[in-house]
Amino acid sequence: MRLKDKTILISAAGQGIGRASAIACAREGARVIAVDINEATLATLPEECPGIEIHKLDVCDGAQIEALAGRLPALDGLFNCAGYVHNGTVLDISEDDWAFSFDLNITSMFRMSKAFLPGMRERAKANGTASILNMSSMASSLKGFPMRTLYGTTKAAVIGLTKGIAADFVKEGIRCNALCPGTVDTPSLRGRIAAAPDPVEAEKNFIARQPMGRLATVDDMTPMVVYLLSDESRFVSGQALLVDGGVTI
Ligand code: NAD
Repeated sequence: MRLKDKTILISAAGQGIGRASAIACAREGARVIAVDINEATLATLPEECPGIEIHKLDVCDGAQIEALAGRLPALDGLFNCAGYVHNGTVLDISEDDWAFSFDLNITSMFRMSKAFLPGMRERAKANGTASILNMSSMASSLKGFPMRTLYGTTKAAVIGLTKGIAADFVKEGIRCNALCPGTVDTPSLRGRIAAAPDPVEAEKNFIARQPMGRLATVDDMTPMVVYLLSDESRFVSGQALLVDGGVTI
């Protein structure tokens, strides 16, 4: 039980990487608090993995975050997973697109960190450690991809936020890292493929850029999530960890 006695909150836990992470952390003994804006997908989580607590939360709503933080126990782990993929070049991005992606992909993490860090400091004082994990991407400051300018810009900012928090709280035992996945087969990826002018071609193209010849599964991500939220990663902080099947080799 690698996460025994740890209380961990995970956002975007209704589906995809967040959901798989919630289940993986619960199976490693954590008390998991799963949050998502989508109540319907969230509601099926405790059926699949009994013991997981669920709360509807919009990570773009600061008041909701503050209210939830006030009701919950102090956290040992926080996985800020929520994010949105904008598709287009810089010429396609509207002011509203820009504001929305920044709000969901990065400002939400600033809000969550501010709300939950005070409790995490207490836990770190008592136990020597607490861990924040922020969802970035290989599409960030690490690599550029066509049609991902806005997405990659926000995910680069995630790495900046991660390093800032890591630097400020390293002496208190709080670690902060960013997970940078490759292309992961999740409901939203399926949606992006389906929305392409030629979905069959779009899927082929996603797979063609994979050196390992396949897309990642959510289960390719969860071992790194568990590791970064566990004490096994106690000497790792401020890092952007790529799990991309070799795309950035
Ligand atoms: P997904 O996109 O399929 O699901 C996202 C979840 O976030 C949904 O359950 C949705 O309801 C929730 N959500 C959306 N807005 C929210 C809000 N305001 N408040 C709370 N929850 C909200 O899941 P995914 O593809 O696993 O992506 C999860 C994260 O991983 C994102 O940050 C994404 O950018 C990142 N990521 C994904 C991939 C990939 O290929 N799938 C690759 C790299 C990084």
